[in-house]
Amino acid sequence: MDRDQLSEHLRFAADLGVAGVSRDPAWRKKGDGQKATVAKVDTVANVGDGLKAVPLQVSLSPEAALAGVKAFIGECTRCKLSGLGRTQVVFGVGSPSADLMFVGEAPGAEEDAQGLPFVGKSGQLLTKIIEAIDLKREDVYIANVIKCRPPQNRNPEPDEIETCEPFLFQQIDLIKPKVIVTLGKFAAQCLLRSEEPISRLRGRIFDYRGAKLIPTFHPAYLLRNPSSKREVWEDMKLVKKLLS
Ligand code: URA
Repeated sequence: MDRDQLSEHLRFAADLGVAGVSRDPAWRKKGDGQKATVAKVDTVANVGDGLKAVPLQVSLSPEAALAGVKAFIGECTRCKLSGLGRTQVVFGVGSPSADLMFVGEAPGAEEDAQGLPFVGKSGQLLTKIIEAIDLKREDVYIANVIKCRPPQNRNPEPDEIETCEPFLFQQIDLIKPKVIVTLGKFAAQCLLRSEEPISRLRGRIFDYRGAKLIPTFHPAYLLRNPSSKREVWEDMKLVKKLLS
């Protein structure tokens, strides 16, 4: 690692709240055996095209077309989550022409209250992760697989995913990001139609709906397991490389 890389690495760690480093050899060993970048690209067929969603208005600007999808979703009652205590649909936020898109699982309590994705504690960490690669939240697009909060933040159920995911596919197809970062096990497994654990999915690059998809850990997981920020930094360096 040269001086520039080291200072970049330390800045990322500081941005993410790492207070110090250890020279303990046991600590250093923690990341051994993990690849920083992977040349192999896995291809995933486009699945679940938005058959139940609004037809894409290809002649519209991405901004107008996204607004159309949002209006089509409306005060959605297509699945049972509408009757299970959610306040509102959390559509997505950011630049309609973003090169980088983040996809999480489902809104939490704060997101449900504000109508915006990733605005709670994990959202604050996600903002730091975005800023660590010299971007701002407004430069990227942030959405979830499921647009309504499941009760007590339980995992989304198959019928809810089936109903809601066509809207995410439409968002991806309209925004046409170069890179999609899935946050956590659920989003990665759902988009990739995989049952592999996140530990096996991350560190790989997948072709997905015209973009490169990079699975990484969920910010909520990082809040509980700060040592995994090391791997996320590797993933974000890869994202930066793919964007440049
Ligand atoms: N976790 C998610 O997966 N999405 C959000 O919007 C907030 C927390």
